[in-house]
Amino acid sequence: MSQANLNNFIIKIIDRDIASGLHKSVRTRFPPEPNGYLHIGHAKSICLNFGIAEHYQGQCYLRFDDTNPVKEHTEFIESMKNDILWLGFHWSGEIHYSSDYFDQLYSYAIELIHKGLAYVDHLSVNQIRDYRGTLTKPGKNSPYRDRSIDTNIALFDKMRRGEFKEGSTCLRAKIDMTSPFIVMRDPVLYRIKYVDHHRTGNKWCIYPMYDFAHSICDAIEGITHSLCTLEFQDNRRLYDWVLNNISLNVYPHQYEFSRLNIEHTIISKRKLHLLVSKNVVTGWDDPRMPTIAGLRRRGYTAASILEFCRRIGITKQDNNVEISALEACIREDLNESAPRVMAVINPIKVIINNYPVGYKENIMMPNHPNKPEFGQRKVTFSREIYIDCTDFRENNCNQQYKRLILGQQVRLRYAYVIEAERVEKNEQGNITIIHCSYYKNSLNQTLDDSYKVKGVIHWVSAIDYIAAEFRFYDKLFSDHNLASTDDFNVSLNHRSLIIYHGVIETSFLPLLKSGKINYFQFEREGYFCTDSKDCSKLQPVFNRIVGLRNNWLAKS
Ligand code: ATP
Ligand code: MG
Repeated sequence: MSQANLNNFIIKIIDRDIASGLHKSVRTRFPPEPNGYLHIGHAKSICLNFGIAEHYQGQCYLRFDDTNPVKEHTEFIESMKNDILWLGFHWSGEIHYSSDYFDQLYSYAIELIHKGLAYVDHLSVNQIRDYRGTLTKPGKNSPYRDRSIDTNIALFDKMRRGEFKEGSTCLRAKIDMTSPFIVMRDPVLYRIKYVDHHRTGNKWCIYPMYDFAHSICDAIEGITHSLCTLEFQDNRRLYDWVLNNISLNVYPHQYEFSRLNIEHTIISKRKLHLLVSKNVVTGWDDPRMPTIAGLRRRGYTAASILEFCRRIGITKQDNNVEISALEACIREDLNESAPRVMAVINPIKVIINNYPVGYKENIMMPNHPNKPEFGQRKVTFSREIYIDCTDFRENNCNQQYKRLILGQQVRLRYAYVIEAERVEKNEQGNITIIHCSYYKNSLNQTLDDSYKVKGVIHWVSAIDYIAAEFRFYDKLFSDHNLASTDDFNVSLNHRSLIIYHGVIETSFLPLLKSGKINYFQFEREGYFCTDSKDCSKLQPVFNRIVGLRNNWLAKS
């Protein structure tokens, strides 16, 4: 379905670098911090980095940026690997970890101290912030800034040996406290954390900061083009400063592109983590989550996510993409590939009084209206059937309503024309049964329909069906722009999950048992998939991926 979208400014830069002979081959990297699950924004970065490597027959490394052991877990590493492979990408060679380079990073820190370009500071975190100044106010020097190189070497060694308390001491670059770029005001390079690391155990109690580690890891790995999101634009100065001041003599270049934001959702591991930890959702793979795992469980195919990334492209413009752009991609994919089945989400019983008691017949139906190769199936028709309660009205004054109305006719999909004659109600006044009659000669006259009924509705036999659960999802948030919100409680949509108990035709059972097909179009209802966690042969559970049209309430 999708091919990488190669019409972007980064491709032009790489073409130029190859044409000028600056690089003979291209090497990119995807460097997630394993502090959560990958989300759709990461998919954009994955498509870009792996797509570039494929296009230039170069390499793309997967590097876990594991420099903060407090928030990082192996569960996240495993899920990230799984998600990348599921999207269809393969990293070059072994998996890399920033922690692979802790020894080298440490020795480059010592090199900077030796050159008088880094110092050990004892200001507290708050003091460092106060001393840093603001965009309009220059920072001021720490009182510890000008101690001798030997003193700094000795103090850094003490830091490494665990002789200072966490938060009391750090290593900082000595750059310029008055720089117009706040990142250049003596950024912290190393801090103390008495936390075991998932790979290096208790070997270290000092851990390098992102900017210091990232540039050096890129250089050690021979990354040619280091691609990241726009919020790191200013950090490029620090990235270059580090590489220009150590003796590695490799100079990858950082380029920035805009982050993906999607309306009505938050795309940030940190914020998604809050949704999980506060039980707003059932987990990282909750089908409402914009994580790859959530989208997969919801029923999005890898092809649809790649196609979405292709369509949004890569630019430097800030954007807030409509969720419907993503939905269009899965709809187009499944329109081609999903077999059609009938399911009634809100069943109400219909009794066809002039249909013979105890009789039933098999009606052949195509599994895809335009694809004969999908074959046909037999569906039981009987005297009692279910239709959706929204497909019936006692009185109707809306000309647009083309379903069953008391005293009028409607066609049952691939079956007979019926007419509603009377209803039974319970004590609360709710309709419990719709009594109808059918036209014996009307069976499946789709082409030349002499009955001229206005509408077609779907149905399921009431003697041959499977009960099923249907989970309908809606956006998690009602606000459309959440990029800068932290207090998402205000805008939580409390109806983001609605569960229905309905019925589905039994012809679907062999497909469910085979486990081969998980995606369906339930006629007139939308695209659904079996829920990978909760669906069983005894109790089918379906997630509605997306409606048939943009407005899911609009049935045909
Ligand atoms: P988060 O805030 O979700 O943790 P991050 O940028 O801190 O995002 P990383 O794990 O560091 O996440 O991201 C790995 C790569 O994915 C980075 O190169 C980053 O720029 C890119 N990336 C992260 N979020 C997005 C996004 N929304 N759109 C595009 N690329 C993204
Ligand atoms: Mg992050």
